[in-house]
Amino acid sequence: MRNLSIDPERLWDTLMETAAIGGTAKGGICRLTLTELDRQVRDWFKARAETLGCRVTVDDMGTMFARRPGTADVPPIAMGSHLDTQPTGGKFDGALGVLAALEALRTLHEAGYETYAPIEVVNFTNEEGSRFAPAMTASGVFAGVFERDWAHARQDRDGVSLGAALDAIGYRGAERCGAHPLSAFFELHIEQGPILEAESLDIGAVTGAQAMRWYEVTVTGQDAHTGATPMHLRKNALLGAARLIERVDAIGRAHAPGGVATVGLIENKPNSRNVVPGEVFFCVDLRHPDGHVLNSMESDFAAALPEVCGPLGLDHTMQKIWDQPAVHFDPECVASVRRAAELSRLTARDMVSGAGHDACYVSRVARTAMIFVPCRGGISHNEAEFSSKEQCAKGAQVLLQAVLDYDRTLAERSRGPGRS
Ligand SMILES: [Zn+2]
Repeated sequence: MRNLSIDPERLWDTLMETAAIGGTAKGGICRLTLTELDRQVRDWFKARAETLGCRVTVDDMGTMFARRPGTADVPPIAMGSHLDTQPTGGKFDGALGVLAALEALRTLHEAGYETYAPIEVVNFTNEEGSRFAPAMTASGVFAGVFERDWAHARQDRDGVSLGAALDAIGYRGAERCGAHPLSAFFELHIEQGPILEAESLDIGAVTGAQAMRWYEVTVTGQDAHTGATPMHLRKNALLGAARLIERVDAIGRAHAPGGVATVGLIENKPNSRNVVPGEVFFCVDLRHPDGHVLNSMESDFAAALPEVCGPLGLDHTMQKIWDQPAVHFDPECVASVRRAAELSRLTARDMVSGAGHDACYVSRVARTAMIFVPCRGGISHNEAEFSSKEQCAKGAQVLLQAVLDYDRTLAERSRGPGRS
């Protein structure tokens, strides 16, 4: 078996070269989707892919596909991520997945390596969701989660629609978004969490993404004078909220390491220094890789509400406002990632993504897996985001080998009718 090696220096140079498009003083990138800067990096990507003999197509959500032909007429094995960033984004979130894929193509091109399936590099439009909500818009349309016309009508804060922004930079393509079958999709991404670094591991073989739910809770008591109201006659909504926040934290800890539970938003009313608070609104975020366990976390919290509020004389309401099921990536694609790490003599573990990614939506319509590499301190969505040249190169190497591994699986399957 040919053991192809990506070029760490060339990958790093590419990361740094494109980081200058929208580069910030603090070393990050501000390259919001479908802006002039996004057009520049898209043009750059298109030109580089065409140098490698790729045909670049664009769908009507602006998602770009750079295809290197294979020997068989089958849907491509794709790899990629996104080139848009947060307003104070880092150099690696998204960019690594696209540019490592480009480096993998360069490696195949230079070696003259013929794959069975065509190989594609994909750049999804508006993964970040910071200019147009929601996040992962184009991959969501690609997977049939969102309607294309609805997505085109999303507006930024200046009232510019996503469709108009596509036209403004000349990236509304002819192909209908979603009419683009894939044999498989592999996304390399920085972990955006601290686990790989803490365990000194090179690679995360991502098996899926955790289920998550959001709840809005209102606790109601009675506004009262802080000096004139004795302690035993108070209905202090903030005290109830404080005890509930403690309970939410305990639910997360009781279901660790898979479970996480957070209150990140709270509004206290009337929020005056000499008024016993009469009403508190807060949001609860519960997550677990297993939807069944998440059910029990939810019922634990539902039980905590009357337990806490009853003795304090408080009323409460709870409403579930978001319910995202767990994502389970394709076992064969994940196996290709594990074998690729082993072949590259890298340390790896299975893990579950804590964040959403384009791959989560793509997995609804194509066999999919993800590869994580460590990032310093687990910091992301931050200009200080950092993965080393070596860490990026290891991820790119595993990406290339995983795609080739999966390509061999496809080729073998096509030969033997007895195989399944
Ligand atoms: Zn990302």
